[in-house]
Amino acid sequence: MTRYQETLYSEWGQNFEQGKTLFEADTGHQHLIIFDNSRFGRVMALDGVIQTTEADEFVYHEMMVHVPMNTHGAPKRVLIIGGGDGGILREVLKHSSVESVTQVEIDRAVVDMCVEFFPNHSQGAFDDPRLNLVIDDGAAFIASNTETYDVIITDSTDPIGPGEVLFESHFYQGCANALATDGILVTQNGVPYMQGDEVTNTYRRWKSCFATRSFYLTPVPTYAGGAMAMGFASKSNIKTPDHATLKHRTEQLNALKYYSPEVHLGAFGLPKYVQDLMID
Ligand code: SAM
Repeated sequence: MTRYQETLYSEWGQNFEQGKTLFEADTGHQHLIIFDNSRFGRVMALDGVIQTTEADEFVYHEMMVHVPMNTHGAPKRVLIIGGGDGGILREVLKHSSVESVTQVEIDRAVVDMCVEFFPNHSQGAFDDPRLNLVIDDGAAFIASNTETYDVIITDSTDPIGPGEVLFESHFYQGCANALATDGILVTQNGVPYMQGDEVTNTYRRWKSCFATRSFYLTPVPTYAGGAMAMGFASKSNIKTPDHATLKHRTEQLNALKYYSPEVHLGAFGLPKYVQDLMID
Protein backbone atom coordinates (compact mmCIF):
# COMPACT_ATOMS: atom_id res chain seq x y z
CA MET A 1 0.00 0.00 0.00
CA THR A 2 1.35 3.43 -0.97
CA ARG A 3 1.80 5.94 1.89
CA TYR A 4 1.43 9.72 1.59
CA GLN A 5 4.00 11.43 3.83
CA GLU A 6 3.26 14.98 4.93
CA THR A 7 6.47 17.04 4.62
CA LEU A 8 5.58 20.09 6.75
CA TYR A 9 8.21 19.15 9.35
CA SER A 10 11.56 17.57 8.53
CA GLU A 11 11.98 15.94 11.92
CA TRP A 12 8.51 14.45 12.31
CA GLY A 13 5.25 14.01 10.46
CA GLN A 14 2.13 12.08 9.75
CA ASN A 15 1.51 9.73 6.87
CA PHE A 16 -1.65 8.37 5.26
CA GLU A 17 -2.53 5.17 3.52
CA GLN A 18 -2.78 6.52 -0.04
CA GLY A 19 -5.56 4.81 -1.95
CA LYS A 20 -6.61 6.05 -5.38
CA THR A 21 -5.04 9.33 -6.46
CA LEU A 22 -7.91 11.35 -7.86
CA PHE A 23 -5.92 14.39 -9.02
CA GLU A 24 -2.31 15.52 -8.95
CA ALA A 25 -0.70 18.50 -10.69
CA ASP A 26 1.48 21.55 -10.34
CA THR A 27 -1.10 24.28 -10.70
CA GLY A 28 1.33 27.13 -11.38
CA HIS A 29 0.93 28.24 -7.76
CA GLN A 30 1.47 25.04 -5.80
CA HIS A 31 1.54 21.24 -6.03
CA LEU A 32 -2.00 19.90 -5.56
CA ILE A 33 -2.86 16.29 -4.78
CA ILE A 34 -6.19 14.68 -3.87
CA PHE A 35 -6.29 11.04 -2.82
CA ASP A 36 -8.51 8.52 -1.08
CA ASN A 37 -7.89 7.29 2.49
CA SER A 38 -10.03 4.60 4.11
CA ARG A 39 -10.37 6.48 7.43
CA PHE A 40 -10.48 10.17 6.39
CA GLY A 41 -12.14 9.83 3.01
CA ARG A 42 -10.76 12.16 0.36
CA VAL A 43 -7.66 14.09 1.43
CA MET A 44 -6.14 17.20 -0.17
CA ALA A 45 -2.56 18.40 0.24
CA LEU A 46 -0.84 21.49 -1.13
CA ASP A 47 2.95 21.57 -1.42
CA GLY A 48 3.20 18.52 0.82
CA VAL A 49 0.98 19.92 3.59
CA ILE A 50 -2.39 18.41 4.50
CA GLN A 51 -5.13 21.00 3.86
CA THR A 52 -8.43 19.24 4.42
CA THR A 53 -10.12 15.84 4.60
CA GLU A 54 -13.73 14.84 4.14
CA ALA A 55 -13.89 13.31 7.60
CA ASP A 56 -12.65 16.13 9.85
CA GLU A 57 -13.15 19.33 7.82
CA PHE A 58 -16.22 20.27 9.89
CA VAL A 59 -14.11 20.93 13.00
CA TYR A 60 -11.93 23.58 11.38
CA HIS A 61 -14.53 25.23 9.15
CA GLU A 62 -17.16 25.59 11.87
CA MET A 63 -14.69 27.08 14.36
CA MET A 64 -13.06 29.45 11.85
CA VAL A 65 -16.49 30.85 10.92
CA HIS A 66 -18.95 30.72 13.81
CA VAL A 67 -16.64 32.14 16.49
CA PRO A 68 -16.22 35.52 14.70
CA MET A 69 -19.69 35.52 13.14
CA ASN A 70 -21.51 34.74 16.39
CA THR A 71 -19.32 37.19 18.30
CA HIS A 72 -20.19 39.98 15.85
CA GLY A 73 -23.88 39.06 15.92
CA ALA A 74 -25.06 40.55 12.62
CA PRO A 75 -22.31 40.43 9.98
CA LYS A 76 -23.54 41.53 6.57
CA ARG A 77 -20.32 41.84 4.53
CA VAL A 78 -17.77 39.04 4.77
CA LEU A 79 -14.37 38.65 3.11
CA ILE A 80 -12.73 35.23 2.81
CA ILE A 81 -9.07 35.06 1.82
CA GLY A 82 -8.07 31.62 0.52
CA GLY A 83 -10.51 28.87 1.42
CA GLY A 84 -10.54 27.35 -2.06
CA ASP A 85 -12.13 24.12 -0.86
CA GLY A 86 -15.36 25.95 -0.08
CA GLY A 87 -15.83 24.82 3.53
CA ILE A 88 -15.51 28.31 5.03
CA LEU A 89 -17.91 29.72 2.42
CA ARG A 90 -20.47 27.01 3.19
CA GLU A 91 -20.47 27.87 6.87
CA VAL A 92 -20.52 31.67 6.32
CA LEU A 93 -23.64 31.39 4.17
CA LYS A 94 -25.52 29.68 7.04
CA HIS A 95 -25.79 33.13 8.70
CA SER A 96 -29.02 34.86 7.64
CA SER A 97 -27.51 38.31 8.26
CA VAL A 98 -24.96 37.83 5.44
CA GLU A 99 -25.76 39.99 2.42
CA SER A 100 -22.48 39.62 0.50
CA VAL A 101 -19.39 37.42 0.57
CA THR A 102 -16.22 38.24 -1.35
CA GLN A 103 -13.83 35.31 -1.61
CA VAL A 104 -10.27 35.86 -2.87
CA GLU A 105 -8.54 32.60 -3.78
CA ILE A 106 -5.23 32.61 -5.65
CA ASP A 107 -5.59 29.21 -7.30
CA ARG A 108 -8.55 28.48 -9.57
CA ALA A 109 -7.49 24.84 -9.76
CA VAL A 110 -8.14 24.37 -6.04
CA VAL A 111 -11.69 25.65 -6.43
CA ASP A 112 -12.37 23.56 -9.51
CA MET A 113 -10.88 20.34 -8.11
CA CYS A 114 -12.60 20.75 -4.75
CA VAL A 115 -15.98 21.36 -6.39
CA GLU A 116 -15.41 18.12 -8.29
CA PHE A 117 -13.83 15.91 -5.60
CA PHE A 118 -15.07 17.48 -2.33
CA PRO A 119 -18.70 18.31 -3.16
CA ASN A 120 -19.70 18.14 0.51
CA HIS A 121 -17.26 20.94 1.37
CA SER A 122 -18.99 23.63 -0.70
CA GLN A 123 -22.42 21.99 -1.09
CA GLY A 124 -23.26 24.42 -3.90
CA ALA A 125 -21.98 27.47 -2.00
CA PHE A 126 -19.96 28.65 -5.01
CA ASP A 127 -23.29 29.12 -6.85
CA ASP A 128 -24.81 31.33 -4.14
CA PRO A 129 -25.85 34.74 -5.57
CA ARG A 130 -24.34 36.52 -2.53
CA LEU A 131 -20.84 35.36 -3.55
CA ASN A 132 -18.30 37.39 -5.49
CA LEU A 133 -15.42 34.96 -6.22
CA VAL A 134 -12.15 36.68 -7.11
CA ILE A 135 -9.17 34.66 -8.35
CA ASP A 136 -6.25 36.72 -7.08
CA ASP A 137 -3.52 36.97 -4.47
CA GLY A 138 -5.19 37.97 -1.22
CA ALA A 139 -2.38 40.39 -0.34
CA ALA A 140 -2.68 42.18 -3.68
CA PHE A 141 -6.46 42.31 -3.31
CA ILE A 142 -6.39 43.78 0.19
CA ALA A 143 -3.76 46.36 -0.86
CA SER A 144 -6.16 47.89 -3.39
CA ASN A 145 -9.39 47.18 -1.52
CA THR A 146 -11.81 50.06 -0.92
CA GLU A 147 -14.72 48.06 0.53
CA THR A 148 -15.57 47.63 4.23
CA TYR A 149 -16.21 44.25 5.81
CA ASP A 150 -17.73 43.11 9.09
CA VAL A 151 -15.76 39.84 9.20
CA ILE A 152 -12.57 38.81 7.39
CA ILE A 153 -11.52 35.16 7.50
CA THR A 154 -8.06 34.20 6.26
CA ASP A 155 -8.21 30.51 5.48
CA SER A 156 -4.71 30.28 4.06
CA THR A 157 -2.04 27.68 3.65
CA ASP A 158 0.96 27.89 5.95
CA PRO A 159 3.45 30.76 5.58
CA ILE A 160 5.35 28.96 2.82
CA GLY A 161 4.86 29.54 -0.90
CA PRO A 162 1.85 31.66 -1.91
CA GLY A 163 0.54 31.78 1.66
CA GLU A 164 3.57 33.57 3.08
CA VAL A 165 2.36 37.10 2.23
CA LEU A 166 -0.80 36.50 4.28
CA PHE A 167 1.23 36.46 7.48
CA GLU A 168 3.03 39.76 6.91
CA SER A 169 2.44 43.17 8.50
CA HIS A 170 1.27 44.97 5.36
CA PHE A 171 -1.41 42.35 4.81
CA TYR A 172 -2.63 42.70 8.38
CA GLN A 173 -2.67 46.50 8.08
CA GLY A 174 -4.70 46.12 4.90
CA CYS A 175 -7.18 43.92 6.75
CA ALA A 176 -7.44 46.53 9.53
CA ASN A 177 -8.12 49.21 6.91
CA ALA A 178 -10.81 47.01 5.36
CA LEU A 179 -12.61 46.17 8.60
CA ALA A 180 -15.54 48.14 10.03
CA THR A 181 -14.80 49.62 13.46
CA ASP A 182 -16.40 46.62 15.19
CA GLY A 183 -15.26 44.22 12.50
CA ILE A 184 -13.40 40.99 13.30
CA LEU A 185 -10.44 39.30 11.60
CA VAL A 186 -9.81 35.58 12.08
CA THR A 187 -6.73 33.81 10.76
CA GLN A 188 -5.47 30.26 10.35
CA ASN A 189 -2.50 30.67 12.69
CA GLY A 190 -0.69 27.33 12.84
CA VAL A 191 -0.28 24.65 15.48
CA PRO A 192 1.41 26.43 18.42
CA TYR A 193 3.14 23.31 19.76
CA MET A 194 4.98 22.96 16.44
CA GLN A 195 4.72 26.49 14.95
CA GLY A 196 4.81 28.73 18.03
CA ASP A 197 6.62 31.50 16.15
CA GLU A 198 3.47 32.02 14.07
CA VAL A 199 1.55 33.03 17.22
CA THR A 200 4.33 35.34 18.38
CA ASN A 201 4.85 36.92 14.96
CA THR A 202 1.14 37.49 14.41
CA TYR A 203 0.70 38.91 17.93
CA ARG A 204 3.56 41.39 17.38
CA ARG A 205 2.46 42.37 13.89
CA TRP A 206 -1.06 43.06 15.12
CA LYS A 207 0.06 45.47 17.87
CA SER A 208 0.01 48.58 15.69
CA CYS A 209 -3.35 47.92 14.03
CA PHE A 210 -5.67 46.08 16.41
CA ALA A 211 -7.02 46.80 19.92
CA THR A 212 -8.09 43.18 20.33
CA ARG A 213 -5.32 40.62 19.71
CA SER A 214 -6.14 37.10 20.84
CA PHE A 215 -6.22 33.46 19.81
CA TYR A 216 -8.46 30.49 20.33
CA LEU A 217 -7.65 26.81 19.96
CA THR A 218 -9.29 24.00 18.00
CA PRO A 219 -8.07 20.38 17.86
CA VAL A 220 -8.22 19.37 14.18
CA PRO A 221 -7.22 15.68 13.94
CA THR A 222 -5.28 15.96 10.66
CA TYR A 223 -3.44 19.18 11.55
CA ALA A 224 -0.63 17.33 13.25
CA GLY A 225 1.03 18.46 16.47
CA GLY A 226 -1.83 19.44 18.74
CA ALA A 227 -4.55 22.05 18.68
CA MET A 228 -4.50 24.71 15.95
CA ALA A 229 -4.48 28.41 16.89
CA MET A 230 -6.96 30.73 15.23
CA GLY A 231 -6.05 34.39 15.42
CA PHE A 232 -8.83 36.78 16.50
CA ALA A 233 -8.42 40.56 16.10
CA SER A 234 -10.42 43.76 15.95
CA LYS A 235 -9.85 47.54 15.98
CA SER A 236 -12.38 47.60 18.83
CA ASN A 237 -12.21 46.03 22.25
CA ILE A 238 -14.35 42.97 21.55
CA LYS A 239 -16.05 41.26 24.45
CA THR A 240 -17.09 37.62 24.01
CA PRO A 241 -20.91 37.38 24.21
CA ASP A 242 -22.39 35.46 27.12
CA HIS A 243 -23.62 31.88 26.79
CA ALA A 244 -27.29 32.84 26.37
CA THR A 245 -26.47 35.24 23.52
CA LEU A 246 -24.28 32.67 21.75
CA LYS A 247 -27.00 30.04 22.22
CA HIS A 248 -29.59 32.32 20.62
CA ARG A 249 -27.28 33.14 17.69
CA THR A 250 -26.50 29.44 17.18
CA GLU A 251 -30.16 28.46 16.84
CA GLN A 252 -30.23 29.67 13.20
CA LEU A 253 -27.23 27.51 12.22
CA ASN A 254 -28.19 24.15 10.76
CA ALA A 255 -26.11 20.97 10.48
CA LEU A 256 -23.45 21.79 13.07
CA LYS A 257 -21.21 18.95 14.20
CA TYR A 258 -18.54 20.72 16.23
CA TYR A 259 -19.30 24.35 17.12
CA SER A 260 -21.40 25.02 20.22
CA PRO A 261 -21.65 27.99 22.62
CA GLU A 262 -19.74 25.92 25.20
CA VAL A 263 -16.93 25.13 22.78
CA HIS A 264 -16.84 28.79 21.67
CA LEU A 265 -16.35 30.02 25.25
CA GLY A 266 -13.86 27.28 26.12
CA ALA A 267 -11.71 27.74 23.02
CA PHE A 268 -10.32 31.05 24.33
CA GLY A 269 -8.98 29.35 27.45
CA LEU A 270 -5.32 29.13 26.46
CA PRO A 271 -2.67 26.87 28.02
CA LYS A 272 0.27 28.64 29.65
CA TYR A 273 2.75 27.77 26.86
CA VAL A 274 0.48 29.48 24.31
CA GLN A 275 -0.04 32.52 26.53
CA ASP A 276 3.75 32.73 26.83
CA LEU A 277 3.98 32.99 23.02
CA MET A 278 1.85 36.16 23.07
CA ILE A 279 4.71 38.59 23.76
CA ASP A 280 5.54 41.96 22.17
N1 SAM B 1 -7.55 24.69 6.24
C1 SAM B 1 -6.25 24.76 5.61
C2 SAM B 1 -5.19 25.06 6.63
O1 SAM B 1 -5.54 25.32 7.78
O2 SAM B 1 -4.01 25.00 6.26
C3 SAM B 1 -6.29 25.76 4.50
C4 SAM B 1 -7.11 25.23 3.39
S1 SAM B 1 -7.40 26.20 2.00
C5 SAM B 1 -7.32 24.96 0.80
C6 SAM B 1 -5.93 27.16 1.78
C7 SAM B 1 -6.10 28.02 0.53
O3 SAM B 1 -5.27 29.19 0.59
C8 SAM B 1 -5.69 27.31 -0.77
O4 SAM B 1 -6.82 27.18 -1.59
C9 SAM B 1 -4.62 28.21 -1.39
O5 SAM B 1 -4.67 28.22 -2.80
C10 SAM B 1 -5.01 29.54 -0.78
N2 SAM B 1 -3.95 30.56 -0.80
C11 SAM B 1 -2.64 30.42 -0.50
N3 SAM B 1 -1.99 31.59 -0.64
C12 SAM B 1 -2.92 32.51 -1.04
C13 SAM B 1 -2.87 33.90 -1.35
N4 SAM B 1 -1.72 34.60 -1.27
N5 SAM B 1 -4.02 34.52 -1.71
C14 SAM B 1 -5.19 33.82 -1.79
N6 SAM B 1 -5.31 32.50 -1.53
C15 SAM B 1 -4.17 31.86 -1.15
